[in-house]
Amino acid sequence: EKDFGPNKSIKHSRTATPNNRSVADHYNSKPDVGVERRRESTIIFLRNFNNWIKSVLIGKYVTRDGHALDIGCGKGGDLLKWNKANIKKLVGIDIAEVSIEDARKRYNEIKGRKFEAEFYVLDCYSSLISNVIPSGTSSDIVSMQFCLHYSFETEEKAHMALKNVTTNLKSGGIFIGTVPDANWIVKKLKSLPKDQLEFKNSIYSVRFEQRDNFPKFGHKYWFYLKDAIDDCPEYLVHFPAFEKIASQYGLELVYKKRFHDLYNEAKEESHYRELLYNMRVIDRRSEEEMSDDEWEATGMYIGFAFK
Ligand code: SAM
Repeated sequence: EKDFGPNKSIKHSRTATPNNRSVADHYNSKPDVGVERRRESTIIFLRNFNNWIKSVLIGKYVTRDGHALDIGCGKGGDLLKWNKANIKKLVGIDIAEVSIEDARKRYNEIKGRKFEAEFYVLDCYSSLISNVIPSGTSSDIVSMQFCLHYSFETEEKAHMALKNVTTNLKSGGIFIGTVPDANWIVKKLKSLPKDQLEFKNSIYSVRFEQRDNFPKFGHKYWFYLKDAIDDCPEYLVHFPAFEKIASQYGLELVYKKRFHDLYNEAKEESHYRELLYNMRVIDRRSEEEMSDDEWEATGMYIGFAFK
């Protein structure tokens, strides 16, 4: 079993330089390295783990033959999951136009494709989706994976994100997603000596600009994840504030779990346990799995579902 205890000591040091690139620039500038290159990445087990978590969330809440909306779909990393989930139609939207081009390409290359898809470029935290899809999407499920936290830059953006979720969701539909766990992050920050603003291990670093104020929106930190995210500004998702706005749009929280707990729960189900091997979260032959530092980094996130 993995060590679920306190996090390991911080080993490697790294000097991060702040930059002011926007989120879209950041993701546009990331080349689509393709499956083979991604397989060689040093964080391959972490990537596979995150993909497995998303498969579990999608698997738990998707409806067969349903319509799905993937906000912040990026390069289409979840396309195969949607295909497996037997949806009828997908709409994928992202602010980064290069990512959307990659997603379209990837969709066209899916062998045995079973669903229709449309892709759009839009800043979903500043504009209504109805600007690009006037009739809306009327989806059974809306998914926001590893992207909602960017909307917590301002209260207005968080509102726009949730407005886009709910105006495109059928009554009784489900909204799923993954975000960094602000509680976990703030606890780590507060456990540092008073003059320090950064915690990290060999895989990730989180660096704050101050630790005196804890605003509900716009609480910025800089995030680095090896081979994935080079020092990108992110914002804490104050979960009670998120739930409160969500309730104003008629959304009720039905599921919230830290990734480590989600893993422990889901791996007890034989189907998801098998998927751990199929998605190479655990190597079937060697039983090799992610390093302690990767495991610590995955502990930063939570998965949620609203109805
Ligand atoms: N959901 C994908 C996944 O799980 O692989 C991509 C996750 S990536 C960490 C975050 C994504 O959010 C990026 O593709 C980024 O362009 C997108 N994003 C950030 N701000 C956005 C906005 N305002 N509107 C739409 N997409 C946004």
